[in-house]
Amino acid sequence: RAASREQLLEGLNDPQRAAVVHEGAPLLVVAGAGSGKTRVLTRRIAWLVAERGAHPGSILAITFTNKAAAEMKERVEELVGKRARLMWVSTFHSACVRILRKEADKLGYKASFSIYDAADSKRLMGLVLKELELDPKKYQPNAVLNWISDRKNELVDVDEAAKQASNAFEEAYARAYRTYQRRLSEANAMDFDDLIMATVHLFMAFPDVRETYRRRFRHVLVDEYQDTNHAQYALIHQLCAHDPEDDGSAQRVAPAELMVVGDADQSIYAFRGANIRNILDFEKDFADATSILLEQNYRSTQTILATANQVIGHNKGRKPKRLWTDAGDGDKIVGWVADDEHAEARFVSDEIDRLVDAGARPGDVAVFYRTNAQSRVFEEIFMRTGQPYKVVGGVRFYERKEVRDALAYLRVLVNPADEISLRRILNTPKRGIGDRAEACVSAYAERERITFFEALTKAHLAPGIATRSLKNIQGFVDVMTEVAQMVEADERPDVILETILDRSGYLAELEASDDPQDGTRVENLAELVAVAREFAEDPQAGPSADPTDVEAGTVSPGLGDFLERVALVADSDQIPDADDTAGVVTLMTLHTAKGLEFPIVFLTGLEDGVFPHMRALGDASELEEERRLAYVGITRARQKLYVSRAVVRSAWGAPSHNPASRFIDEFPVDLVDWKRTAQMAPRPRTEYSRGASAPMGAPTAAGRRNFSSAAARLDAVSKATSAREIPSLAPGDRVVHDSFGMGTVVALEGVAEKSVASVDFGSAGVKRLLLRYAPLEKL
Ligand code: ATP
Ligand code: MG
Repeated sequence: RAASREQLLEGLNDPQRAAVVHEGAPLLVVAGAGSGKTRVLTRRIAWLVAERGAHPGSILAITFTNKAAAEMKERVEELVGKRARLMWVSTFHSACVRILRKEADKLGYKASFSIYDAADSKRLMGLVLKELELDPKKYQPNAVLNWISDRKNELVDVDEAAKQASNAFEEAYARAYRTYQRRLSEANAMDFDDLIMATVHLFMAFPDVRETYRRRFRHVLVDEYQDTNHAQYALIHQLCAHDPEDDGSAQRVAPAELMVVGDADQSIYAFRGANIRNILDFEKDFADATSILLEQNYRSTQTILATANQVIGHNKGRKPKRLWTDAGDGDKIVGWVADDEHAEARFVSDEIDRLVDAGARPGDVAVFYRTNAQSRVFEEIFMRTGQPYKVVGGVRFYERKEVRDALAYLRVLVNPADEISLRRILNTPKRGIGDRAEACVSAYAERERITFFEALTKAHLAPGIATRSLKNIQGFVDVMTEVAQMVEADERPDVILETILDRSGYLAELEASDDPQDGTRVENLAELVAVAREFAEDPQAGPSADPTDVEAGTVSPGLGDFLERVALVADSDQIPDADDTAGVVTLMTLHTAKGLEFPIVFLTGLEDGVFPHMRALGDASELEEERRLAYVGITRARQKLYVSRAVVRSAWGAPSHNPASRFIDEFPVDLVDWKRTAQMAPRPRTEYSRGASAPMGAPTAAGRRNFSSAAARLDAVSKATSAREIPSLAPGDRVVHDSFGMGTVVALEGVAEKSVASVDFGSAGVKRLLLRYAPLEKL
């Protein structure tokens, strides 16, 4: 019952068709938002299978989220039938994990390796800094991890990083990188960035392995190509570029057919290493590449599109695009200036009520904001009015303590070398294995060069452990060993989970507690068991299922597969499905909204310092990235767009008075209908500098008290601190701060004693520092 040729090309315009049926040379489809790039990519996969006889297993399609992958698979399945399940449609990370599970031994890993998320990595970095005796005040774990992540995204390995280090700080970072990698490998674990880098290194070190995958994947397709980083680019290149070792002999396979689709104006992940050059240089990087332009937008009204075009037009050095639509003008954009963020949320809520009364479904509505924290006020009002909503992102189910604990148990059962997970559960629930005993075991493991788990099994040989602790350790080891046999026997993940929660005493401790929070924890664990059961019963379902191996019978839906599924769940995978959310308003950050569309969109918090983000204010290229984010936000809307801002917004506990976002000034004046303006709102009288302890902007009635106490504090500080030499700095200078670590100067204001520098400390954020007092050194 596969779709006919006509059906496969139905509802496509000429250039879209050309992209679907294109054969041979690498193909780049560049086009603005909503022009059907994702539709073309999906149809092309169906076309390859149905019309060109491609084996589904020879197709590798990369999407930006697991959710998008699942949707794409479903759509292709509708067109070509069940065999579509053999395709690899996944994120870069999921695809790399599948490859690495098979080839792990070549990299000195076991197939059961753990995948560490940000929280695990941070714990491990804590141990690394301790081992290297680096002061965690000076070397913040997150700052070091960001630095390492940047290196990995650029495929800079440990040796290379050591060579490149050019000052004492970077040398310390490079040492931390080396130790961190060593400990990861000892724990049989990889972090997120490793997944990509390790696959690239695998292909580089083992040409025959690379050749196997080049033979396997005859078609490679990549969505959202503008957001690939260097490591991801290298991976695609290895699979699809002409092989330099190809001597023309029959032994080498021709490169896979490659299609990438993207939009340079929607590149919003530079902070994670995405490189816009990948799309701009495509024709240079892939021999005889062709490109196809799509210019008709099918998503939005003319009003929305004109606004998006005008805003993005303020970015320099971009190729202008002519994106048009025949959808008609539609409604004007509605603008609203609220007195504060609560009033803004009330406006959004009231407007949604009005829209719903007029026939819209809450599920048609999305509310976007720049940072996760902004969701809170919307949640408050929706809870009060009883409007069902769903926040995508924020504190996620899999980040809850009890869920992490349970998963740590499972990980140790699969991979006993996983020291971070093991230490997490060693004394959780409390079973009388204290810090001292743990330290003795750790020291013993290090001396004997054995894993932490092995050291636990031999704890009686480790000096310094009290007899009581020894008994408790023995009890713990016994339980783990016993339940591990269920893993060996390929028992179902849900059964193993229930057993370990019971045998470890974890559940009993929660159930005995009279803290109401612990009741919620028990419910969450029940939910996790349900997730595991669902997985055991239908491993195909869910966001990142990759059934190739399941169908081929090489993998059972075992515990390892379950853990992998869970490890790769991302924020955007929680986007509700259209059918079961007709009554639910979706709240999410602009970053998460990429690739999606909604009939009605509220773009909130349009204030300088919020959106664009404060970090970007002094930096031209970051401002351009923020503007691209605005372009993404605006172009999600199909019929109706609302833009709003608050005159006063509380930040760090003190209200700030932010000017209108500069992006608002870039909107076409005649296309926005401002239903409420700032006339009535209090105006700032003086410009105040912003800082962690000072309020942002002028005091308002509500904030005045706060402000004066902050001012008094500042005053006291300046009296108490004797002036010191003011370092002379310029934007771009690298500096080091006693507690924030290394950073880059992004902006300077004021002169002499009053000079203030904005310094980007990576994960610690951008800080505004009064140079006279800040413990800052120029590198
Ligand atoms: P983005 O840049 O936001 O990722 P995109 O270029 O991937 O957007 P799609 O999401 O594929 O665009 O398509 C946008 C909307 O237009 C979708 O609702 C899609 O179904 C519709 N669409 C695409 N092409 C056509 C067409 N030829 N005729 C009718 N509708 C179309
Ligand atoms: Mg798309």
